[in-house]
Amino acid sequence: MLPSLRGSLVNANGFPTAPASPIVEKRTDYMDVLYSVEDIVSDWEGYSRHLRVKNPDFHPRVLFVSHDMSEIENITLMALGGVVRSLNGTPQYLLVNPNNVSKIDEFLERGHPEWIGFNLYTGLTDHVFEWIRSYKLKSAEAILKRPFSNFEEADQALKNLVREAGGPVMSGGRVLYAPVITGGHYNNHDYKTSYERGADYAVRGKGINLLKDILMRQYAPGIYHDPITFPNIPEFDRAGFYADMAAFSDKTKKYPLSPVKSVLTALGCSYRCTYCYISSLIDNLKESYEGTGVKPPSIIQDRPVELILKEGLAIKELDKLYGIRTTAVFDQADISLNNLEWWEKLNPLWTSQVGIPFYIQARPAMLAGENGIKRIALIAKDRLVAGISMAIESGDPAVRRLLLKRLEGNEMITDALRNVKSFHIPIRTQAITGLPVIRPLRPTTADIGLVDKDKEYYYDDPLQETLKCLDLVCSSNAFSKEDYYWNSLYSPFPGTPLGDYSFQAGFHDGQTDNKEKAYMFTTECGLSCFPPAVTRKQVAFHRTANFFAHLQNGKDMMTLFIYSHDVFDLKIFADFIEQKHDLFKIPPRASKFGFVPHVSEEMLRDFFAHAYPQTEDAAFKEINIKLLPYYSALLDGLVLAAKIAVRYFKEKEKGTAFTLDLLTRVERNHYYDNSYNMAYLPAAYTAFLSGFTHETRQAA
Ligand code: SF4
Repeated sequence: MLPSLRGSLVNANGFPTAPASPIVEKRTDYMDVLYSVEDIVSDWEGYSRHLRVKNPDFHPRVLFVSHDMSEIENITLMALGGVVRSLNGTPQYLLVNPNNVSKIDEFLERGHPEWIGFNLYTGLTDHVFEWIRSYKLKSAEAILKRPFSNFEEADQALKNLVREAGGPVMSGGRVLYAPVITGGHYNNHDYKTSYERGADYAVRGKGINLLKDILMRQYAPGIYHDPITFPNIPEFDRAGFYADMAAFSDKTKKYPLSPVKSVLTALGCSYRCTYCYISSLIDNLKESYEGTGVKPPSIIQDRPVELILKEGLAIKELDKLYGIRTTAVFDQADISLNNLEWWEKLNPLWTSQVGIPFYIQARPAMLAGENGIKRIALIAKDRLVAGISMAIESGDPAVRRLLLKRLEGNEMITDALRNVKSFHIPIRTQAITGLPVIRPLRPTTADIGLVDKDKEYYYDDPLQETLKCLDLVCSSNAFSKEDYYWNSLYSPFPGTPLGDYSFQAGFHDGQTDNKEKAYMFTTECGLSCFPPAVTRKQVAFHRTANFFAHLQNGKDMMTLFIYSHDVFDLKIFADFIEQKHDLFKIPPRASKFGFVPHVSEEMLRDFFAHAYPQTEDAAFKEINIKLLPYYSALLDGLVLAAKIAVRYFKEKEKGTAFTLDLLTRVERNHYYDNSYNMAYLPAAYTAFLSGFTHETRQAA
């Protein structure tokens, strides 16, 4: 029976004792797989025990591969690894990049996996597909003992072999060919490309149930789509993931050793922001249910409180193993706080047993008004939540409504900001810089665009739109030193309504492969439609916006900065700060955060004299002196200056210059340190700084 809006998504029996028999419907390019509640596993431990008795020889070996470019640990792989563990199998994990993708071959030699699963990210797929191409050509030639003139033929031959074998191609106990399974956001839109470029199984939508049944050999090669948000993610295989990451490389060690860990309290989001993949998930679900007469279940589902608690305790156990202290858990739920009762239940259990504060993401509508205050009061209690990230995206209500489909008004946004700040919780506002707000260069068929009832809201100068969000935050009169104005340059991901609109409108070329920088939200504008001078200003805005957000007249000062220059670098920024500092209106608000909350100019000057005594560093010292108002306006400016000095000398050692981009990065990490309770005094300057710090604020 199809799960419905009112029905439960938890299998009351815990797990199925017979092979799952979902409704499988052929669509034009893929198979829709609609599981009933009785078909899914909700009690994974029980299922594992059941399999040990019923199928004692079943121990699937799966190698999961993704990229190592994110600072955030990969919760998808840990969740899928949890499935493999519950099937009494062995998951292995490997995170690679274009330079070391060949490490997959070494893993195949050593680990002999029966399956290879790729978690694909838009913009980071070219090297993966190249590896799959070479793997399949080599495997087909070795197994079929003949050369293949083209990849398509080899790919088809292997898919046939997998179909015949019902899974991995084996000889005796030896794996001749481990089938390729792909999933991830990229696959949600480009499932056909994945399949054509070598996936034996392309999984669109949710992967938990499909992975289990692919490994149990219930499916032939193909494209499968599970659109229902069953919250039946098993306990993460955090221990296995960390062990593999710690062993693999210095780069991947950062995941187990990081003081910030990721958790997932809930799945789904009911909003439909046009730049996000979520809206397509809602449409996919609706499409799958079309004509059934059944209302689909909600896209938003909570994971069980007990499971999150268990995962929190596992983080603490692993801390002991790796000799570290996790200081914050980042909730990767698209939107936290959907279900207040859930948080109410978690609060006493989590704070008494785990005690690591959460960092969450919430919409302005959830934080505004009386209900917002109630919500914040609950999560602020016993410091369950120590930081909130809140997306604004644009300061122009017309852009938010017509282009982004975000319907909250400016008043609601500033009210939310003020509510959060009334509890002294650090907030990170999020904005998108470089949105496609100019008139389309070509007609589009999209139902988005800046036209409403014959009135146009397009911008001749797109920078004016970008400045509005800064203005909204500055004029809220609530933004404090500990708060961070996060902004990313817009990346048009295909398959999102805004990405497709941007392509149709002629704002970019539609190519996403090899755009790592866009994926990482770093320094490149995602659109190619703006004149170079505008792009330079957008990038300068991106790099300096957090400083200007801490001025009451931030919008005017940013306007002066970007319109009075054509090129931007650290020296130009520092000169501007020095020359215009009399115009800056720095709010008098005090902050309780930071080691040295009240920094005087004299303290900063003393530090620069201490840090840069050599004449060869005189130029950089001079830049720092010009930046005095910058350090004074930002959180813990003296410690920030010390972190900048550390980075400057590191770059000097490498023979590279300290740029404006680096200033932005050090500044951003400095704010993250505070948000995630990992503020520290740089070791090189501890002796100097500790003279100024209050004893209760000394670094651990
Ligand atoms: S609120 Fe966040 S997760 Fe939800 S649709 Fe918008 S951007 Fe996506």
